[in-house]
Amino acid sequence: MDDETISNGAVYYDEKDHSLKVKYVVGDETREVVLLIANVPSIDGHVYEENMLKLLSGKLHFQMKLVKCKRCGYTWFPRKDESKVRQCPKCKSAYWNKEKKKNKG
Ligand SMILES: [Zn+2]
Repeated sequence: MDDETISNGAVYYDEKDHSLKVKYVVGDETREVVLLIANVPSIDGHVYEENMLKLLSGKLHFQMKLVKCKRCGYTWFPRKDESKVRQCPKCKSAYWNKEKKKNKG
């Protein structure tokens, strides 16, 4: 079973780098990913300010689709539609969404 389903995550504001982060659990491992950074256009093209991030913190619904590279296991939130993701940001594989072929038998 390789599939990871992320159904929920905790959103919080990180004052250190002025970002909104999501903490989520995959299996029994807790991971963290930056969702939005203050003053940087993000996701839908909006520029979020610190105060806005604080407001969003804890309230934002966790509805973004998290995708996973099937080659290296890296998970991330794509800015674009999943079908338009051309490569894994970590291992740069263009086959990030394709299972490695397994020999049957
Ligand atoms: Zn990868």
